[in-house]
Amino acid sequence: MIPGPIEFESEVMQCMAVPTPSHVDPDFIDLFANSLKLMKEVCKCPSGQAFIVAGTGTLAMDMAAANLIETGDKALVISTGYFGLRFAEILKRYGAEVDVLEAEVGDIVPMELIEQQLQSKSYKLLTFTHVDTSTAVLNDAKSIGDLGRKHKVLTVLDGVCSVAGEEIKQEEWGIDVVLTASQKAIGVPPGLALLVISQNAIQAFEKRTSPVTNYYGDWSNWLPIMKAYENRQASYFGTPAVNLVMALEKSLQLIVKEGLDNRFDRHLRAGKAMRAAISALGLELLSKNEQVSANTLSAPKYPSQIDTTTFLKAVNQEGIILAGGLLPELKNDYFRIGHMGSINRSDLLATIGALETALKKHGYLHELGSGTTQILKHF
Ligand code: PMP
Repeated sequence: MIPGPIEFESEVMQCMAVPTPSHVDPDFIDLFANSLKLMKEVCKCPSGQAFIVAGTGTLAMDMAAANLIETGDKALVISTGYFGLRFAEILKRYGAEVDVLEAEVGDIVPMELIEQQLQSKSYKLLTFTHVDTSTAVLNDAKSIGDLGRKHKVLTVLDGVCSVAGEEIKQEEWGIDVVLTASQKAIGVPPGLALLVISQNAIQAFEKRTSPVTNYYGDWSNWLPIMKAYENRQASYFGTPAVNLVMALEKSLQLIVKEGLDNRFDRHLRAGKAMRAAISALGLELLSKNEQVSANTLSAPKYPSQIDTTTFLKAVNQEGIILAGGLLPELKNDYFRIGHMGSINRSDLLATIGALETALKKHGYLHELGSGTTQILKHF
């Protein structure tokens, strides 16, 4: 129950255990083309261009920055935690002049502040983290997309912890880049960097006057490959992670079969149930209120007087693996529970059950069952 890598469906895992076909095998080309199409469907961006590249989420961030930034371009980072600050570092590497609007821990940056900042300078690009995995804060992607469109700024959404778990309507919301990785709500073992970019972003890329300074990530290398796959033609730039792409197609098929709305609703109910359970146990959440709380993970604070060095081990002994805090300054103050992908009621009950038992063993007083009751009520 960590926020990625998550538990994967057995049908997806089976794709990893078959003999690896050639990357130019006609069946693989078909499957790649289908995965590109499904990526656009999941991000709701029918006119966009999808990329499937071997790498991690950080590579997807790197590709967005490397291809859309030229030295001296102004970029605005809206940061809600660890991964916002990472984006600022990446953008600086490619010569961007970066301003960071940093939210208070557990909150988002108010839209008025973002708008004020966009009015103050002419930015080429803005980035925001849809769900920051370090704080479990959910950003208002639609409103940020609106602001980006209004101020003619390329908008980049880091969806590593949100795509296929939180609602995204990329095209309707005017988001130019949605990027993610395979190992979270997309439901595939780690190793794929995934992007869907708008035609607007492609035009901005084509208007560059300087070469992209990252060789592997250069869209000039990858665009022809993705287009070739879409046209069912063999092509090569870097060998695709063949089995991972096979697993991706399977997982995307399962996602679409469930129905995106059903899937978002299931995540919403899981998120609500977990927050209700955690609150019923008397634990505070890092995210400030329901509106800014992610549904793909939760970040409860440890109760005071609990031994934080042994607590997660005690939960682990109950059969549930949770993650520690990630924000360096609050690392020992909170922990994280992932609830994305194929999550069901039994997973949530087992998790809260383990949490309750570990709390009790650590001398924390609460009525046993008060958390699990909330799961039953809300999920
Ligand atoms: N952005 C967010 C929101 C993430 O949660 C992560 C990974 N936890 C990343 C970016 C980086 O992804 P990766 O670890 O796959 O490089």
